[in-house]
Amino acid sequence: MKTILTVKSAPGGHWVGDGFPVRSLFSYQGDTAAVSPFLLFDFAGPHDFAPAAAPRGVGAHPHKGFETVSIILEGEVTHGDSTGNGGTIGPGDVQWMTAGNGIVHQEFHSEAFTRRGGRFHMAQLWVNLKASDKAAPPAYQSLLARDIPVVTLPDGAGTVRLIAGDLGAVKGAAKTFTPMMVWDVTLAPGGTASLATPAAYNTLLVPMAGEATVNGADTLRQADLAIFNHDGDDFTVTSVAGARLLLLAGEPIAEPVVGYGPFVMNTQAEIRQAITDYNAGRFGVIAD
Ligand code: MN
Repeated sequence: MKTILTVKSAPGGHWVGDGFPVRSLFSYQGDTAAVSPFLLFDFAGPHDFAPAAAPRGVGAHPHKGFETVSIILEGEVTHGDSTGNGGTIGPGDVQWMTAGNGIVHQEFHSEAFTRRGGRFHMAQLWVNLKASDKAAPPAYQSLLARDIPVVTLPDGAGTVRLIAGDLGAVKGAAKTFTPMMVWDVTLAPGGTASLATPAAYNTLLVPMAGEATVNGADTLRQADLAIFNHDGDDFTVTSVAGARLLLLAGEPIAEPVVGYGPFVMNTQAEIRQAITDYNAGRFGVIAD
């Protein structure tokens, strides 16, 4: 059985731009080996926004050396980037952006959500790339809710949306550089599910909503972060009142992690080069 190593409560929050009230459940400034290949988990909201005229969010900024994964539960986000990609995603949709060799993008609430206001709730993950993949061309996978396979769990326990990683014969939606699972698990009230991730993977579990108990022992509340041991594959999750959980698991990337703001590389020299390249305009610009 896979057991829990530690459960951490969410820290205090901060704002990313004026659109994203986040709590960083972990970041590359912590114990990166324990969470690799994941680098960061920003738990945004839930937060109620009043109707407004101008979209809130964060304007043009760079990324290099990793991927950002935005998972929307409530609200809408409109993205545009220096490769010309862009679009609006809403509840159930996921944007998987490869910053790779360098990208500039902006992230705002959609025009429609801004005008009507309402509850905003999402997660943004940063996923590391191996040194050999950090020079990959920037790319963008728009994974709409209808494109994400849903697997029904036995005994009416709930469902799993396979954002990345397979479950049985069902393939996850995202193309990833290294093996990983990003599962959006909904537990029905009273539901108990047996889930499994390879023992060699790092495995993390975060309730986005509701509470769930792992192996009948550890109860996780909203925005808690559970980090598992590497002592087995299977574990159980139970929820009395129902819950929505993000299960993250992946093969660790055993390389140095050197991060500075929106850049995550392997060495300080590569960070200095990234800053130089960005300041020289080599990451491109967002077209109007
Ligand atoms: Mn960004």
